[in-house]
Amino acid sequence: MAGTPLLELKDLHVRYGVIEAVRGIHLSVNEGEVVTLIGGNGAGKTTTLRSISMVHPPAQGQVLFKGEDITGMKSHHVVAKGIVQVPEGRHIFPNMSVAENLGMGAFQRTKTTKQEVSSDLDHVFELFPILQERRKQLGGTLSGGEQQMLAIGRALMAKPKLLMLDEPSMGLAPQVVERVFAVIAEVNKEGIPVLLIEQNAQMALGAAQRGYVIETGEIVLEDDAKTLLGNDQVRKAYLGEE
Ligand code: ATP
Repeated sequence: MAGTPLLELKDLHVRYGVIEAVRGIHLSVNEGEVVTLIGGNGAGKTTTLRSISMVHPPAQGQVLFKGEDITGMKSHHVVAKGIVQVPEGRHIFPNMSVAENLGMGAFQRTKTTKQEVSSDLDHVFELFPILQERRKQLGGTLSGGEQQMLAIGRALMAKPKLLMLDEPSMGLAPQVVERVFAVIAEVNKEGIPVLLIEQNAQMALGAAQRGYVIETGEIVLEDDAKTLLGNDQVRKAYLGEE
């Protein structure tokens, strides 16, 4: 349907017992976009992602994907719909080889031939030549940046219709962060929409078309990424400016 966002959060509330970590947020991602959700420690970013993927379903409100209400759906059905998350901390399988880790990404795909999986694997290797070089190496022996690329590569093997990334810059050296963000741009250029959760506001707003700022579970600002980069409140709170 024209004009329907790919992903839409309507009045989303998420609780941990009596703690309301996300308090009635509205957010959307359209086809082709990179949208970022930025905020400090404990603002509710990860909780929002875990709620979209139904790992931690919302207490109130709705998650719509292509106009369909997926609130309360089992999380493996959410993945099957094409909402694929790269979790914070990567969570690759340290005792499996790079190639096996990538293969795990294709595990949930149904109606897929071996040839399709193999050609998708070739494509991931084109995007990340380092993974091809290291394909027989155990995941746990890769550097932090390589593990992040492996986690993104594994997500791509699941054929995402929406890729959600949780703090991909976490713990990485600036040059490696640049490389990871270049890959995110490349993935998006191939037509995959991205919801990017970040504390690194500078990089995230540089990569996104639109952004939302979350503080203590509420969206306090939303705008074009360029406008947010120039916003005084954002510059002071998230870009370390006086
Ligand atoms: P960070 O960048 O530190 O990961 P975040 O913005 O992703 O921060 P969340 O992890 O979503 O923040 O946490 C939001 C709030 O929910 C915080 O106050 C946090 O302490 C609380 N919280 C998160 N996970 C749980 C949990 N499993 N049980 C109870 N409270 C939780």
